[in-house]
Amino acid sequence: MVYYFHATVILSVFLSAIFVLRWRRGISVHFPIIFVFIPVINLGYLCVATATSLEEALLANGIEYLDGCFLELFFFLYVINFCKLKLPKLITGTLMTIGSVLLFISINTGSNKLLYEHAELKRVDGVAYLIKDYGPAHTVYYGMIALYLIANLSVIIYSLTRKNISKTNSLLLLVVYMAIILAFLCGHPFHPAFELLPASYTFSQVIFLIILNRINLYDVSEIAVSSLAENGSIGFASFDTRMKYLGCTDPVLDCIPELGDLYVDKTLTAENENYSKILKCIDKLNNGVDSPFFYVTRNEVTYKVTASYLYVGKRRKGYQLRSEDNTLESKKMETLKLQERQKEMEAEILKLEKSAAESANEAKSAFLAQMSHEIRTPINAILGMNEMVLRESSEESIREYAENIKSSGRTLLSIINSILDFSKIEDGKMEIEEVRYETASMICDLENSIAERAKAKGLSLVIKADENLPRTLLGDDIRIKQVVTNLLTNAVKYTEKGSVTLTVKKLGKEDGRILMFVEVADTGIGIREEDISVLTESFKRVDMNHNRTIEGTGLGLAIVTGLLSKMDSRLEIDSKYQEGSRFSFKLSQKVVDTEPMGDYHNKTHVVTEEKKSEEKLSLPNARTLVVDDNKMNLKVAGKLLSLFGINADMVSSGKEALEVLSEKQYDILFLDHMMPEMDGIEVLHEIKARSLVSEKTAIIALTANAISGVREMYLSEGFDDYLSKPIEPAELESILRKYLVK
Ligand code: ADP
Repeated sequence: MVYYFHATVILSVFLSAIFVLRWRRGISVHFPIIFVFIPVINLGYLCVATATSLEEALLANGIEYLDGCFLELFFFLYVINFCKLKLPKLITGTLMTIGSVLLFISINTGSNKLLYEHAELKRVDGVAYLIKDYGPAHTVYYGMIALYLIANLSVIIYSLTRKNISKTNSLLLLVVYMAIILAFLCGHPFHPAFELLPASYTFSQVIFLIILNRINLYDVSEIAVSSLAENGSIGFASFDTRMKYLGCTDPVLDCIPELGDLYVDKTLTAENENYSKILKCIDKLNNGVDSPFFYVTRNEVTYKVTASYLYVGKRRKGYQLRSEDNTLESKKMETLKLQERQKEMEAEILKLEKSAAESANEAKSAFLAQMSHEIRTPINAILGMNEMVLRESSEESIREYAENIKSSGRTLLSIINSILDFSKIEDGKMEIEEVRYETASMICDLENSIAERAKAKGLSLVIKADENLPRTLLGDDIRIKQVVTNLLTNAVKYTEKGSVTLTVKKLGKEDGRILMFVEVADTGIGIREEDISVLTESFKRVDMNHNRTIEGTGLGLAIVTGLLSKMDSRLEIDSKYQEGSRFSFKLSQKVVDTEPMGDYHNKTHVVTEEKKSEEKLSLPNARTLVVDDNKMNLKVAGKLLSLFGINADMVSSGKEALEVLSEKQYDILFLDHMMPEMDGIEVLHEIKARSLVSEKTAIIALTANAISGVREMYLSEGFDDYLSKPIEPAELESILRKYLVK
């Protein structure tokens, strides 16, 4: 039987060794004491069983009293701690003192009669045991045991009622305790030398190891909590890998109060909003999201709850939630969000404003285009009729009036053209078309365009044209001429005496291109320095005191800068008030013919001579049809054609034209574009589709639409040529020559 005692010692030492191996920081201090005391107590039992003398047996027996004196105390302290209760220090101190005194008495039993009045060592089957007559100290000892019994049982039963204490652990503790009590009460059941207690203590070690393993996670979470929860508002809650609740700290309950009602070890289910948020967050964590979180707002406080893994060493043992007051942060986020939203709204408003401005601008441009078209039509008639007066009247005064009408009509027309061009530039619809042009003839045209007006004002017009300019260039000569003519017109307008100088020269040459420099200088009224910067704004006129009498719209320079920027150039303005101005720009043009242009006048002479040599055109046999919805325009066209001996047929709608054409063949057809019902282009398509005219018949678009690019549009639609209204007799003549003179 002595081996029984041996076995309990070895086993308990073995279990304590396991405990030491599984030691980690944070294990409740009661555990190591329990695991040290049990082997010592078991050793005491072994020593009694193997004692050879009474003294030896009494000393060893005294050591056995460690259980009632201290083991029970620490067991009790652990249970208190386990139930999250606190024992006043005074009680602990008193119990420790009583325990120490009793232990002292018990290990000194040989020299006092307090514990045993009489003791005798007996031996059965080679196993020693003591027969004792108990003394008063023993009664106190039993009293202590009874006290611990009641206290421990009460606390354990209390722990079973607490939600935040693991019930399994409470039951395990109860089992341990019952085993020890039973062993106590049983005394020596089979043999006078046999003791059940060493076995029950060893058994309790096993159970404690199980509890320790179970509360492992709980403790780990506590360690994490204690190391992290320095900030009072941060809370933690832990769950094992199967989402069994392990416990939480108080601040978490401010945020998720439901956790306070959750039993430890209970698996978390999505029974309420917060729990389902937790489960979703854990799901995210398991799907690889780093530190997933969610927000909970309670009592006007916003908490941020972040999920992470719970580790034991390197092993993942569960999940941990960390809650913190995030109100400030959330407010900041909210403010940021609000600011972002505000920015978005502002951007939206800007966009709306922009599109409103754009559509207003489009509407304005459309209105300008429509209005200028409407104005051009009657001017067309006025100028056409006036042309007839000029040609048919020989009375001097009538001719003078008619000349005045012609000049004012042309001014009006140029204003309308400016408006049209300006609206086109504003719309971004102004296209730059590159064509081959003769440099000399461009300079010549420029000179011709202003010479008369300069002469009329008594200004000397100086043209400084670089003879080394290449003969043929590639670019939009019409737009260049428009720019320079605008500058020349202004120069003449704003100069009372002196000169207007046009300089055109070559600045540089590379990669088959030249940099052309164009400058218009005058000795006129000049511009104040402060006015220069606003000059290019549309409708802006400056120095009105002086300029009031000079007609103008303030559109000229806006068109110039618009066109130049389309051609990748810029207008330079240099002016001295009361002394004169210089307007210049540099333009890169592709060279077609590198031959120097020479004296530009030569070209002019050739042209004028060519013109002069032409005889008066007479085409009485030309079969001609004019289609225009405006009766006045028809009349003007008829009259102008009659100048060339043509007696044209006239119809005032596309439908009529188609009828006439199906019966009669014509040599030339003038077809107005803007007509109600069927416009000119539709009529043309119909004519072509029904093959109403022969291939020889020339179809000319007649239009008040005079903006650049329309010529190409008409040609691409299938017209042979285009004639702009008001019809210039010279242009009409050149068309007739081109298509009817073989
Ligand atoms: P407009 O001549 O129709 O008034 P512009 O846009 O061509 O409009 O010119 C704007 C203003 O610039 C003119 O009103 C005038 O005050 C000033 N300006 C333009 N060219 C000259 C110049 N050569 N000399 C003096 N002032 C000029």
